[in-house]
Amino acid sequence: MSEPASASSSTFLGMPATAPRGVGHLRGDRPFPQAARDALQNSQLRRNLRHATTTIRGKSGRVIAELPDWQALRDAGSAIKTDVMSRLPELLVELEERVVAAGGVVHWAADAHEANRIVTGLVQATGSERVIKVKSMATQEIGLNEAFEAAGITPVETDLAELIVQLGDDKPSHILVPAIHRNRSEIREIFLRAMPGVDPALTDDPPVLAAAARRYLRETFLSTRVAVSGANFAIAETGTLGVVESEGNGRMCLTLPDTLITVMGIEKVLPSWRDLEVFLQLLPRASTGERMNPYTTMWTGVTPGDGPQNFHLVLLDNGRSAVLADTAGRSALHCIRCSACLNVCPVYERTGGHSYGSVYPGPIGAVLSPQLTGVADNASLPFASSLCGACFDACPVKIDIPSLLVHLRNKAPHAAAEKAAMAAAARIMDRPRWYASAQRAAKMARIAGRRGRGLPPPLSGWTAGRDLPEFPEQTFRDWWSGRTDTPARPAADPPSPGFSSGVSGSDGGSSAGRDASAGPGSSAGGESLAAPESSVGRESSASPDASAGRESSAGWEDER
Ligand code: SF4
Repeated sequence: MSEPASASSSTFLGMPATAPRGVGHLRGDRPFPQAARDALQNSQLRRNLRHATTTIRGKSGRVIAELPDWQALRDAGSAIKTDVMSRLPELLVELEERVVAAGGVVHWAADAHEANRIVTGLVQATGSERVIKVKSMATQEIGLNEAFEAAGITPVETDLAELIVQLGDDKPSHILVPAIHRNRSEIREIFLRAMPGVDPALTDDPPVLAAAARRYLRETFLSTRVAVSGANFAIAETGTLGVVESEGNGRMCLTLPDTLITVMGIEKVLPSWRDLEVFLQLLPRASTGERMNPYTTMWTGVTPGDGPQNFHLVLLDNGRSAVLADTAGRSALHCIRCSACLNVCPVYERTGGHSYGSVYPGPIGAVLSPQLTGVADNASLPFASSLCGACFDACPVKIDIPSLLVHLRNKAPHAAAEKAAMAAAARIMDRPRWYASAQRAAKMARIAGRRGRGLPPPLSGWTAGRDLPEFPEQTFRDWWSGRTDTPARPAADPPSPGFSSGVSGSDGGSSAGRDASAGPGSSAGGESLAAPESSVGRESSASPDASAGRESSAGWEDER
């Protein structure tokens, strides 16, 4: 355990906790490679994913290209988020004060257990046995629907895609389009099977499917007194909450019921309305490929006679403070859940969201979920990437996801065989003679027919999903020692500055560049590559290879 921060401190706070196990949806049942292998067998899933991500990418690209200041907006979004993370505690306290002053109630939830307990208790206090829900990643993260059901409360998802997922007893597979893995004939079957009061003559025509959902949801909106939402943003200076959406279901949930309960991750706070302006330009273009999202609902506390008369804000930590504590990893909290990184990710496009095991799939899920849970609980996710960098380019708030992935790979537990292999490789590469011997051994393996096959156990796991490169017939060292065609430096050339001249100068007696007959390596004719060895002031072999085959005491050849 960590030591107390200082000897004078009377209270030991320790490290912030990660999200607890056994509740919520941040951990999968299986490591990513296993789950992805199954997903790759599903050709229908891959067709659906390719179609959907290609369509969204195209739309988004077109509207982003309309903005000449898109890169400046990205910079501004990134800067605002960095500022928020640097003073998150004070902004949250400011937000709490403003919400309370406007007639709301603020609850602080350290983790999923606490948040579920608070929200369930609030609903029970109203006497309602049903809640309507606005699409919310935070409530999925904590498993709120399961908590409701355990308490005898029926949650009804009102976002169309979330409704499809809920009625299909399924899991979301995309942040923005949770039912991206379903096509319209599958949706028709789900509606016929699970939607109350659906017309048995339902077709799979999209307007017909949408009309069926609208009929069912309208009745539910008008007869339910409690709503639960997430929030895209919260403005600290006024205590205002905001939800952006496309269907109008959010507007219904946020205005019709008597009681509104909002569960919001603590990272969603913004200092001021002015900051919101930046994100309201970034989010719709990067997310749905729209210039402006159709519905933006903002509310501040309670307004007598207008909208919900009881408003509760639940501020959710659930591992976020632990992410914040890692100064290299905290930029994952900048995410505004636009899903652009999913739509450009070649891994996501082939495996879909379920393979990630968490409600946060794709590139952002691969860096956020392991940090929320602790890397050991999601150790395969940082490796679920080719590190191509497309996610970084697409991210509207410029989260450097590839660097975060590498950062987390270094924190992930590694198998004993891998650690031993890497330690052995480091020792060999640090010693030129050993390295030369290893190269010769590799050549023998080539002759022995190992090429085209994987490494032998215990290293076989490394080549299970990769091709072992062919060893070249000739190594660089072989080529170097055998070359005969290097032109001599013209006599009139001035000494080259930098590496060569500097080292030669320190050597004073180097044969490199002076005595063309000094040995095989001297054919370098004074070129800079000859210098490192010549700098030791002994019989020089300008050839690195020569060092492997004879006594050499050049400093960089010393075997430590
Ligand atoms: S990481 Fe960036 S691109 Fe991905 S969902 Fe978050 S904001 Fe969007």
